[in-house]
Amino acid sequence: MTARIAAETKRPTIYTEAMEVFHRAADLIGLDRRVRMELEEPDYEHIFYVTVKMHTRLVPLPQTEHAKYAQLPDSELLPDGLEPLLDGSFVFRRRALINANVFMRDGVVRLKNKGLYRVLPGRPERFKAYRVQHNQARGPYKGGTRFHQDVSLDLFKVLAAEMTWKTAIADVPFGGGKGGIKVDPKTLSSEELEALTLRYMYRLKPLIGPNLDIPAPDVGTDGTIMGLLLRQFTDGERERHSLRGVVTGKDTRIGGSEGRVKATGQGLAYCIQEWYADRGAVPAGATFILQGFGNVGSNAAEILAGMGAKLLAVNDSGGTIYSPTGIDVPDLLAYVYENPSNLRKTVAGYPKAQQISRNDLWDVDADICIPAALGGEITGPVAERLKVKLVAEGANGPTTPEGDRVLAKRGIELIPDIIGNAGGVTVSYYEWIQNKRMEHWSETEVNGRLEQAIKSNYRIIRDISRNTPRRTATHNSTRYCIGKEVDMRTAAMVLALKRIEAHYQLEGFSQ
Ligand code: NAD
Repeated sequence: MTARIAAETKRPTIYTEAMEVFHRAADLIGLDRRVRMELEEPDYEHIFYVTVKMHTRLVPLPQTEHAKYAQLPDSELLPDGLEPLLDGSFVFRRRALINANVFMRDGVVRLKNKGLYRVLPGRPERFKAYRVQHNQARGPYKGGTRFHQDVSLDLFKVLAAEMTWKTAIADVPFGGGKGGIKVDPKTLSSEELEALTLRYMYRLKPLIGPNLDIPAPDVGTDGTIMGLLLRQFTDGERERHSLRGVVTGKDTRIGGSEGRVKATGQGLAYCIQEWYADRGAVPAGATFILQGFGNVGSNAAEILAGMGAKLLAVNDSGGTIYSPTGIDVPDLLAYVYENPSNLRKTVAGYPKAQQISRNDLWDVDADICIPAALGGEITGPVAERLKVKLVAEGANGPTTPEGDRVLAKRGIELIPDIIGNAGGVTVSYYEWIQNKRMEHWSETEVNGRLEQAIKSNYRIIRDISRNTPRRTATHNSTRYCIGKEVDMRTAAMVLALKRIEAHYQLEGFSQ
């Protein structure tokens, strides 16, 4: 009892807020006191630092200083010696000086047709890095690697705990972990990003492994970064090929799984399909709005459009677009991802839709709202504005507890993130098995297994929510229903906790 009271009297944090649903479900099922304590806080919270040598860069000079350099002539530098960064700076490579003509005053140069820049000499920089290992009762820690400027220990604790619930819900033999670096990758050159990634794994190596903790991509990281992590972990190891499963989300040519890139969006689409099937309908003809057009958002949109649903509006970090007659998703994908001049890979400026303000997204009348960007976006006020029947969560933690209460009050249904975006970790598990067995499955095989896994677990959660225990050819919810109805988010947590608790009950505690 004392530990619980101590936790309650502490200042609320995003972690304690995120754990509200854990405590609600734990109370409902009378979770074993000791299991509750094991799950209340992570097993390990690793914080460490990585240092990287940053290259010399040219940083745009503030407008207020421009007058001083009005007479400075243009400098001519070899263009491919300058790497453009998304924050408007250039990373300077020595070859830029071949046949150069440089005019510099107080470290300021003027680049032809570009403007004035201050030369910032290269120097080492230190970045804060994390790996939170939340729980491993069901298997090795598993969870993504995030490179983002707004991360914190508390955020990684939230995300690592969420992985513990998600792996249990997806019924894959893993626990939960999450980590990353506090850095805006847009401010790094490709070489600096590579150096930072390698150094991160150099520090992380003693803590992880294919049977211990298995990172994957998350915001700001991708298959290329996973390839670097793999190489750094396995470099020089005698049996390095057997260690391929140390990271998932790799390129298919180096042990990645077919269908992994699309898996999270695919899983969300399967949940939405099941939501409609339960009502004797199909997603064809349904309309949806979307926040985030990255990995999860763009793939979910493409798959739903393939099922005949219509995308009406999209918001991302660059802007918001809207078309009352529907946005052609393959065309938008080409505009964002196949257009080299779209450096920020944003939907902003898409010519075949109206540009609207970020806030207006939430007012668009549609059947489904898919948040697939960052957490905390569907707040109470946003939930009050939504004109949809269903919120299908692709992002992690996109709805605040107040947002949840408003959605419930307004009768808007919910596909919670821990099942909605579990497709990624499910196919990560398939990747890990393929690596262990040295196999390579077809996309049809992966998607067939994924569909069966996501839909059967979704059905169990729905049965818990409605308190309708059933055993069918595809699912069995009799073990998990709790004798009363609960909301979908609580139902998902009930399923997770019952599956985790079974390990403690049947295996006991190591002393
Ligand atoms: P991503 O980096 O590929 O894309 C993120 C998208 O969100 C981009 O379109 C970006 O423009 C947009 N965005 C960022 N900040 C925004 C803001 N302030 N307002 C509006 N849009 C903003 O990331 P992703 O892999 O698609 O992940 C998206 C979410 O899904 C995250 O919450 C992540 O944790 C979660 N998730 C991802 C996976 C996966 O397999 N990729 C699996 C489970 C959960």
